[in-house]
Amino acid sequence: MSDPEPDPRLYVLWDVDGTLLRNGINAGGLYGEAIELAIGRPLEFPVPRVHGKTDGQIIWEALEANALPRDLHSLASVHLDRLSLERHLGGSRREIAPGIVDALQAFADRGVVNALLTGNSANRTRYKMEGAGLDPGAFDWRHSYFGDTAPVRAEITLRAAAELYGQRLIIIGDTPGDGIGADAAGIPFIAVATGHYSAAELRETSAVLVIDDLAGGLSEVLEVLAGLSSLDRA
Ligand SMILES: [Mg+2]
Repeated sequence: MSDPEPDPRLYVLWDVDGTLLRNGINAGGLYGEAIELAIGRPLEFPVPRVHGKTDGQIIWEALEANALPRDLHSLASVHLDRLSLERHLGGSRREIAPGIVDALQAFADRGVVNALLTGNSANRTRYKMEGAGLDPGAFDWRHSYFGDTAPVRAEITLRAAAELYGQRLIIIGDTPGDGIGADAAGIPFIAVATGHYSAAELRETSAVLVIDDLAGGLSEVLEVLAGLSSLDRA
């Protein structure tokens, strides 16, 4: 006799920068520094704009813009992790975005799984969270998805959709790029305007809901989640 099919669970896949944590003041500087350490000299052309891109993508683009060999990517990634750890140990603190701690608890209380879908590596994510005082234990790391080698965000969302097939998913993020990645995998998307983009800009995306932050918008988010959880249960 086989076990009965477990009920599908609802996974909230959280973006990190600009969503769980406020963006760092010098969000882009670390990438250039990591590549410069890998090549041993200053970059000729600066690192392109970074909001909403994966770590992997930013490094690929900067290597290409500077006509540098693609096989420098892994060395630059190692330097990026190390620089993040140095910043963390040096007291470069991020702030937790408004309402996040209560939202995580409210979701967990309802049986929703809090997990991560981010363009950062797992190490960088952990350093940033610990620096900000956000408990990494609040997340299911086994069902979290990272972008340290992903060339585009859609690669991460497609990986999440494949591995969590049969579960219910929703992405919470702060950039139009989060929305494009979500669309590529057919995952609904909630946009929160705590990062670089305004609520008006985020309304241009496919988001099922746009909120200013989780402090004011939690009840609306819970309504959306309740709608997803009750699908097929009637
Ligand atoms: Mg973000």
